[in-house]
Amino acid sequence: MAEQTTIDEVNEFFDTAATFLKLDSGIKELLKNPWRELKVSIPITMDSGELKVFSGYRVQHNAARGPYKGGVRYHPDADINEIESLASLMTWKTALVDIPFGGAKGGVQCNPLELSNTELNRITRRYTQNISHILGVNRDIPAPDLGTNSQTMAWMMDAYGQTYGYTPGIVTGKPVQLGGSVGRESATGLGVFFLLEQFANDLNIDRSKTRIVIQGSGNVGLWTALFAYERGFKIIAISDVDGGIFSSNGLNILELKQYLEQSKSIANFPNSEPISNSDLLELECDFLIPAAIDRVINETNVSRIKPNYIIEAANHPITPEADKILQDKHVTIIPDIIANSGGVIVSYFEWTQNLYQHKWSEERISTELKTIIIKAFNEVKILSQTENMSYRQAAFSIGIAKVLEASRLRGFLEK
Ligand code: NAD
Repeated sequence: MAEQTTIDEVNEFFDTAATFLKLDSGIKELLKNPWRELKVSIPITMDSGELKVFSGYRVQHNAARGPYKGGVRYHPDADINEIESLASLMTWKTALVDIPFGGAKGGVQCNPLELSNTELNRITRRYTQNISHILGVNRDIPAPDLGTNSQTMAWMMDAYGQTYGYTPGIVTGKPVQLGGSVGRESATGLGVFFLLEQFANDLNIDRSKTRIVIQGSGNVGLWTALFAYERGFKIIAISDVDGGIFSSNGLNILELKQYLEQSKSIANFPNSEPISNSDLLELECDFLIPAAIDRVINETNVSRIKPNYIIEAANHPITPEADKILQDKHVTIIPDIIANSGGVIVSYFEWTQNLYQHKWSEERISTELKTIIIKAFNEVKILSQTENMSYRQAAFSIGIAKVLEASRLRGFLEK
């Protein structure tokens, strides 16, 4: 079993949708292949004085519908194959939610937990310089992802500006003080929450009795947990890279947020029991929300996954093999390309604000995010019901069809 997401895996989801759309092999090749891939070396003098060379990547998958858009990941497993697969997910995601972007992804193979702030700053600046010739406000706009955050984006913006001048729209997910948008930091979690809420309303379920398990308590996991907790859902378990915490009565997520600000680790949170990341995924619950890393539900554990509903807050948390098994068990999965689209939707708002030098209110961000994500979700739901297909197949089909239409209109195809 591959340890990380591969483009072949994401393309298995693509192919299922392509069969429904009756795409011929030439069109499939046109849509699957990235338009451009770049690998760069990042030589850095570490705080110890030692010279180390890191590998960095930027994959620009498709820009038929607008400039490339996608996060930058700092992770030891980040490689060209993983970045390509995540870039393609961005193409289908931006199309599905109908914002004027294409798809891209970047990454540096490193472990941010083992690097000092000064080392991370140096890596980010050199990475940005080395890929800057393919970036641009109307060309390719990075954002945070796993292992990166608003500080990383501030460094990227500054490094880009040293050559090209003041360009706040070159990245999204920046600090608000540097032209970032209010609500961007929490946007992915808020989008996940809107879908959870819509789903719970559709099912007419009692929130206070709805047991939710979340893997990951970084940007996406913690904000999802906080919004859900504040609106009355019961979070019974949550984790970080070193393990999780569990309470059958529900965890106080407001207190957990404060606790995390002090301790940086979820371990020993009062009124909770420790639980491993693998046991957490196998808990009895109503909604499971993987919000950490890829491929955590796979053929080794899928038979022990219990909930009827999974919301993919992380990118590609379920392998295609596990996805088939869960479908056979009639588990409803809200796929990543809709579930975590809140981040890129608010990135679109941030980019728009930068272009016009405007500032939107948090209320406007939240309202417009909800409108876009729920509209896309309803389209997915209707197609899934009318064609008797999974939400994933419906979501991919809608996204792919929109990119195909744009490619046709641009004249890539004769007919
Ligand atoms: P983050 O770095 O802020 O948090 C990641 C969380 O996962 C942390 O709690 C970390 O401890 C935990 N984790 C890391 N390795 C783990 C492991 N091996 N096992 C279990 N837990 C582990 O990252 P994030 O921005 O919250 O991103 C999480 C996921 O959401 C990723 O798949 C990312 O691609 C996706 N995503 C993020 C955004 C965004 O706006 N940040 C947008 C869309 C999708």
